[in-house]
Amino acid sequence: MNLHSPSAIKDLQRKHDFQLSKSLGQNFITDPGVIDSIVEGAGIKEDDLVIEIGPGIGVLTAAAAEEAAKVIAIEIDRKLIPVLRETLGGYENVEVINQDILKTDLNEIIEEQRAAGAFAGAVRIIGNLPYYITTPIIMQILESGVKADSVTVMMQKEVADRIKSGPGTKAYGAISVAVQYYCDVEKVVDVPKSVFIPQPKVDSAVLNFIIRKEKAAELKEEKLFFACIRAGFGKRRKTLLNSLAGTCELDKEGIRCVLDEAGIDASRRAETLSIKEFADIANIIADKAKKAGK
Ligand code: SAM
Repeated sequence: MNLHSPSAIKDLQRKHDFQLSKSLGQNFITDPGVIDSIVEGAGIKEDDLVIEIGPGIGVLTAAAAEEAAKVIAIEIDRKLIPVLRETLGGYENVEVINQDILKTDLNEIIEEQRAAGAFAGAVRIIGNLPYYITTPIIMQILESGVKADSVTVMMQKEVADRIKSGPGTKAYGAISVAVQYYCDVEKVVDVPKSVFIPQPKVDSAVLNFIIRKEKAAELKEEKLFFACIRAGFGKRRKTLLNSLAGTCELDKEGIRCVLDEAGIDASRRAETLSIKEFADIANIIADKAKKAGK
């Protein structure tokens, strides 16, 4: 079945009597070139396990199943389960789970599949992510330490640009620092809005996250690092002295001492700091808290 043709999508809608849900971010791919880009960008090999987020009618799932040892597809929309049963019926190496990705323990799935001998290679997460929860999905995968080797996902181009950007640019923000702390990020391809049904208002891009074995900075306390990022970018127009004041119970004077010790000018703004500089600030705050017995 040619799943990416608009007429195939309409036929399935008619047969299974379902509407595409805007609130679930259902914008389906109609361009086989984009599907190939995601599968190739992910570098799927024949002994790999693929976990797909939001299979929709299974267009990307089927392409991944051609390459991988096993594909687990996690779809929240109950109405799409009978559709997926039909479209993926020919693939014995596909399992569909009707669940919310944000409530799914991916490490448990990976361990189960490994114990069952379903794969012997890498774990690759792929997906054309629902726009409304792109950032929560990415951050949950990274923060919960999912034992995956790569994450290759499509998202709104503007979010992709933010994730990839570096210090000193307008797009650089908390999500850039957070993601780049965990991963090397590369752009696979830009995707125009015209290749989706229904057509969204914005263009998309596919990013490949290669999860680092070692994080981008050494941290004494990860939660302090993320607190500094949130505080700094939460008030991004303010100087660090003002935006960080109040973080970890440090007043302006306390923050001035921390910045002095880190060799960072207190009049700079968060958007100019590298990951290493954020880490230096967080590590000095951690030392001070330890000394103070907190
Ligand atoms: N993979 C298909 C494609 O590319 O044509 C569909 C992608 S569509 C952008 C996003 C899919 O994610 C939809 O099928 C939607 O129902 C599903 N979805 C939305 N929220 C989800 C959640 N919390 N957990 C799992 N799937 C979700």
